[in-house]
Amino acid sequence: MAANGIPEDVLMDNDLIKDLVDVAKDSALLNGVLMRTKETPNSSEVVTYAPFTLFPSPVPEATFHQALAVQTHYNRLVDKISQDSSFLEEALASTIKVDDFTGRLFNIYRHVLQEGKTQSIVLGLNRSDYMLDQNEDGSASLKQIEINTIAASFGGLASHTPNVHRHILKVAGRLEDSKRILDNNPSAGLAKGLSKAWDLYGSERWWYFLVKSLLRSFACSTYTNVLILQHLLLMKTVEHCFAFNVMPCSLFHFCFVFCCCRDGREVAIVYFRNGYMPQNYTEQNWEARLMMERSMAVKCPDISTHLAGTKKVQQELARPGVLERFFPGEPDVVDKIRATFAGLYTLDMGPEGDKTVAMALAKPDKFVLKPQREGGGNNLYGAEICQVLEGVKQSTERMAYILMDKVQPRPVHNYLLRLGTPLKLSTCLSELGVFGAYVRHGQDMVLNECAGHLLRTKSDEHSDGGVAAGVAVLDNPLLV
Ligand code: ADP
Ligand code: MG
Ligand code: MG
Repeated sequence: MAANGIPEDVLMDNDLIKDLVDVAKDSALLNGVLMRTKETPNSSEVVTYAPFTLFPSPVPEATFHQALAVQTHYNRLVDKISQDSSFLEEALASTIKVDDFTGRLFNIYRHVLQEGKTQSIVLGLNRSDYMLDQNEDGSASLKQIEINTIAASFGGLASHTPNVHRHILKVAGRLEDSKRILDNNPSAGLAKGLSKAWDLYGSERWWYFLVKSLLRSFACSTYTNVLILQHLLLMKTVEHCFAFNVMPCSLFHFCFVFCCCRDGREVAIVYFRNGYMPQNYTEQNWEARLMMERSMAVKCPDISTHLAGTKKVQQELARPGVLERFFPGEPDVVDKIRATFAGLYTLDMGPEGDKTVAMALAKPDKFVLKPQREGGGNNLYGAEICQVLEGVKQSTERMAYILMDKVQPRPVHNYLLRLGTPLKLSTCLSELGVFGAYVRHGQDMVLNECAGHLLRTKSDEHSDGGVAAGVAVLDNPLLV
């Protein structure tokens, strides 16, 4: 099972593991791999280590570099989709009829489209996630799980975890392995994007970092720390913005001089670390979101980029000819992106959707059924797929979902370290994320970069769920 990862005899050496676990936790604290506690999520008086694996997990070197190399193409793709209103209209037409959340986001999109965009600076910070599908010959293929165009997290912590795993491996007497862990600094890469957009706007302005009222993973946002010292940063909740009418500069763009908010600050950048699920929105928050979209501030993401990250758009991109539409005359780019697609299938009404239903019901274990949701824990697997599809297969409600091939990565043994969870050897699956940062000014792409990576690993007992959902933990690729 090791596949050039950590040998089984090391994993089974209980005395060594016990010592390493203590070393690992101390190292996490010393390196800033931190989280606030469940009991005091809004205070840094008490912090603990963020959950992580005891050992790094093997990732084939070529596949790893393939994922990094395709990122700038994905950045361009997301940006192109966000500017193509007829594509977004068509791709999401069925979804917005039945999915209220996407429908409300789409209403905001239509509103700003009609009024005209207020801001020509576009800032994209995203994370494209992959799993490595195991082929019959033992090789692995990089398959995209999804791309997150809003609130892509853990860039901060991922910048600190390489040192922790290197230290653990050294203490375990595996110096050579420790050299197979690459440096990683998404903090700096994402901050570069923010900084560039800010400079273009006018860097004497403030920016707002929109957070949840409960923020345990404060350190996942530490890339902001790079900027805090130089720039004017305020952590705010959406409620605050609404209460203080904090949407500045030409909120009413027919009145361009209406540029101060009630507390007198003009905001350059609104970064959404929140706002990606229905539970994030009260009626007042919806109004605040619209207000932000209409403002002069650079939105990260703007509403069209947010919509470009929906699962329905991902499925539509997999149709023949669609990538070609976005990259005319660039067949190599099309090939590189398409090589990372898993099978994706529509559930729209009609013969194509009927075929998808039949296929899923016949072999539910081969697929994942996905609604238009983010944040983990929303997808359906195996028997649940049949249960849900039997209920909705004759009605338009099925259009709220897409179907996707289930990616089957090679399982690896590891220990997952999480506060309050007893130590045990787990059979684990990993997901590789790659961060992208880009800034467009009018028609010019002035920055387009791969900003680093993130490996998350979970026990194979769980089909779904990320770090924040308490399922996956932080990890590092051990290049093999
Ligand atoms: P979310 O936006 O909620 O993170 P994802 O599409 O990333 O939605 O799905 C959540 C989790 O479900 C992933 O982190 C992964 O563990 C699992 N998952 C999603 N799609 C697949 C798939 N096609 N094959 C295998 N596992 C998947
Ligand atoms: Mg997501
Ligand atoms: Mg995900």
